[in-house]
Amino acid sequence: MTTYLIRQADLLGGAPTDLLVRDGVIADIGDIGSSAGAEELDATDLVALPGLVDLHTHLREPGREDAETVLTGTQAAARGGFTAVHAMANTDPVADTAGVVEQVWRLGREGGYCDVQPVGAVTVGLSGQQLAELGAMADSAAGVRVFSDDGRCVSDAVLMRRALEYVKAFDGVVAQHAQEPRLTEDAQMNEGELSGVLGLRGWPAVAEEAVIARDCLLAAHVGSRLHICHVSTAGSVEIVRWAKGRGCNVTAEVTPHHLLLTDELATTYDPVYKVNPPLRTRADVEALREGLADGTIDCVATDHAPHPSEDKACEWSAAAFGMVGLETALSVVQQTMVDTGLLDWAGVADRFSRRPAEIGRLGSQGRGLQIGAPANIVLIDPAARRPVDPGDTASLSRNTPFEGLELPGRVVHTFLRGVPTVADGKLQ
Ligand SMILES: [Zn+2]
Repeated sequence: MTTYLIRQADLLGGAPTDLLVRDGVIADIGDIGSSAGAEELDATDLVALPGLVDLHTHLREPGREDAETVLTGTQAAARGGFTAVHAMANTDPVADTAGVVEQVWRLGREGGYCDVQPVGAVTVGLSGQQLAELGAMADSAAGVRVFSDDGRCVSDAVLMRRALEYVKAFDGVVAQHAQEPRLTEDAQMNEGELSGVLGLRGWPAVAEEAVIARDCLLAAHVGSRLHICHVSTAGSVEIVRWAKGRGCNVTAEVTPHHLLLTDELATTYDPVYKVNPPLRTRADVEALREGLADGTIDCVATDHAPHPSEDKACEWSAAAFGMVGLETALSVVQQTMVDTGLLDWAGVADRFSRRPAEIGRLGSQGRGLQIGAPANIVLIDPAARRPVDPGDTASLSRNTPFEGLELPGRVVHTFLRGVPTVADGKLQ
């Protein structure tokens, strides 16, 4: 295994420091004279962050290998600075048994680009009818700790309560896709004046907020851990803040696209902007940024949702929901949170590495840049700027909503346990 001596990296955006990477761990930090046999890497003006951890990634395998595979999705993740991703359960077959989660977990290990931690479905086939084999998935080689019917809401309060109670036995967490189904039948975009003007069925904020409020109360009632996927409204931030204030064990995530984009983009009728939950208003975007800054929202999660062009190149109402995001996530967070002064790089490391690893109970991830920690490291050039080119991707899909925008920051190197997965911006 190659030993790397990373020279003069700005540790979490701080003073230039050397990092010695040996045998997969960070062996030394500081003013390191020389190290016999080490390969030196000049990181002047690069910021060193711990490897990013995504709680919410759709890798599409098994079932939709035309949209993404575990290999291509983790390659995109590595290019985005990630060293771990949670693979959502809405595959075909659904990841609702030990067999399927172990298959996904093994594919991740074989690829070697990223740790792939499968998320288990809460209900059999995501049908919302009957609890899946949560215990068997937890006990499997994949060691599932996060359970979600993402894409669909666990809307039945009794089932949600049972799931919350069940996962306590193995310190699991239920990640809720908060969408009241009756309030969002055939919904296409954020409900507001604009949805009326555009003639697209509205998706009211209350459809998200009502489920979050109910589930915070349920989680508090049974004393269990609850995670809220892709919070998208100012009201949702308020409810999570309230719930945390009264001791509820709830955590929440926000996506990069909800931190930057608004429902105004629907005026283009371009389905690349169609996503679930929908893009909201400028006031919602501001509240999400504030919530992430003050810790009400614990982490950023991409909700990377690849789709082949035939599922997006059609009229708005027929198009699939979702956007790719692994390779642009850190740039969007830099633009919306760092360049605005809302978070420093240490804050980004917390929200994009430490917290998601903690929520997912990933012991070897999110440990930060310290001696003895696994060498999961990303080196970025924060001064770089690049126009987003949908073709410049390792993903099999091109449905980025950021095409044409010039975003700051570029991932230069990514290390997974001391092994470069990206070097000089290129996949290894
Ligand atoms: Zn979702």
